[in-house]
Amino acid sequence: MAKKKNTEQPAAKPAGGLFTYAPAPESPAAAGDIASSYGHFIGGEFVDSSGSEALKTVNPATEQVLAEFARGTEEDVDRAVAAARKAFADWSALPGSERAKYLFRIARIIQERGRELAVLESIDNGKPIRETRDFDIPTVAAWFFYYAGWADKLDYAGFGPNPRPLGVAGQVIPWNFPLMMLAWKIAPALATGNTVVLKPAETTPLTALRFAEICRQAGLPKGVVNIVTGDGRTGAALTAHPDVNKVAFTGSTPVGRAIARQLAGSRKKLSLELGGKAANIVFDDAPIDQAVEGIVNGIFFNQGHVCCAGSRLLVQESVQDEVLDALKRRMATLRVGDPLDKNTDIGAINSAAQLARITELAEAGEAEGADRWSPECELPGTGFWFKPTLFTGVSQAHRIAQEEIFGPVLSVLTFRTPAEAVEKANNTPYGLSAGIWTEKGSRILWMADRLKAGVVWANTFNKFDPTSPFGGYKESGYGREGGRHGLEAYLDV
Ligand code: NAD
Ligand code: MG
Repeated sequence: MAKKKNTEQPAAKPAGGLFTYAPAPESPAAAGDIASSYGHFIGGEFVDSSGSEALKTVNPATEQVLAEFARGTEEDVDRAVAAARKAFADWSALPGSERAKYLFRIARIIQERGRELAVLESIDNGKPIRETRDFDIPTVAAWFFYYAGWADKLDYAGFGPNPRPLGVAGQVIPWNFPLMMLAWKIAPALATGNTVVLKPAETTPLTALRFAEICRQAGLPKGVVNIVTGDGRTGAALTAHPDVNKVAFTGSTPVGRAIARQLAGSRKKLSLELGGKAANIVFDDAPIDQAVEGIVNGIFFNQGHVCCAGSRLLVQESVQDEVLDALKRRMATLRVGDPLDKNTDIGAINSAAQLARITELAEAGEAEGADRWSPECELPGTGFWFKPTLFTGVSQAHRIAQEEIFGPVLSVLTFRTPAEAVEKANNTPYGLSAGIWTEKGSRILWMADRLKAGVVWANTFNKFDPTSPFGGYKESGYGREGGRHGLEAYLDV
């Protein structure tokens, strides 16, 4: 056969061993209308704050202010809790099949408005559109679909007949997966018949406020979902409120600890999802290319702003060189830049404060004697950015091996035997997740038995599914979200 002249191929130029891609920008206009200022969503209405303090949320890729929003006062929180209390009587009395209809409707609207939500999340948070479009928003919809399915089956969830809701849930969430964390909290709470007051993080309030619109669109009864924006003070007012029956918090371990102290001796039920310092463990029999993809996904997904990130790579000494060479080659192909470009792998760091934290810890890594490496890459002039970074020669005592960096920084340690891998992996105050890469099924089971981590992934990493419970050991928190277990956090059992 004559060789066909392929004239349709775009002129892909290798640059530094890389193909250059033409820009593939998503339109920021797809985010829909962003108001110049927002109040709270209380009792089914958008209302002004009782206070006058406004905060600003920026696009971390451009540092442009997207909107102002209210810093919720104690009075605002009180109003929202009262609205949730009022709505609780009717909502909890609805047959589960009726509550399910609302949740299914919300899930479908999220799918229908998926592009809008993906773009809005990307510009408020800095994460790449590829992730919000392909991961965050589909996962959000999946969570609502999944818990919608439970709403009329609570009798069969293993908690005895007719399990009762707790009442009003006060929920405080972080900025790393804004809408997804909202879904993880709101979907099970509503399915089980609770009503909620949710406070989004101060750098990413916009998708929660858009979700409030979706509640209205779905005809959700007034007061079942209330959104109060603000900072840590607003969060503390919510978790301390005497008429809140259940507190669910995701965020840093110090704040989680403070909330646990605040709630000690009260009758409030508490679940905490805190930090992590997960080990991603690669054995010498692992398929190396596949493991390298898993390492990259484990630490560079979402700029490393992931509580279960595989931030410590434990690699068996005999394959160290091979793995690190392949990893460096792969890291050199990561595209850092405009989050709205569909080719971007690593977007902007969420805030100046988070960038400062990452920078400080990376500098500590160098000062303590670890070897720092990053691929060559050009960072944009404005916005908050951090190159994908690898530290080798890391010892267990180094801060970069102990502390959560919450950024695109990987610390590499080595081991010789499975027992040593377990010991090193567990040598952390945290215990949220772990990854194992090996061809041997028996070794996976042996390791999983011994790893003190709420989630253990085998030959994969960062896999999330609404049917699967997620949560921590030790200083990573307690309580589970997801799956049947996730219902328990919102039931009086
Ligand atoms: P944070 O814990 O301060 O904030 C999380 C949420 O809690 C926000 O909504 C915040 O307004 C609220 N909050 C703050 N103080 C509060 C208080 N006293 N009472 C009630 N609510 C309060 O986290 P951060 O400052 O955004 O990030 C700091 C570090 O936390 C990060 O570097 C990272 O290590 C960790 N973190 C972990 C997760 C996670 O998913 N586990 C998420 C975000 C941050
Ligand atoms: Mg923002």
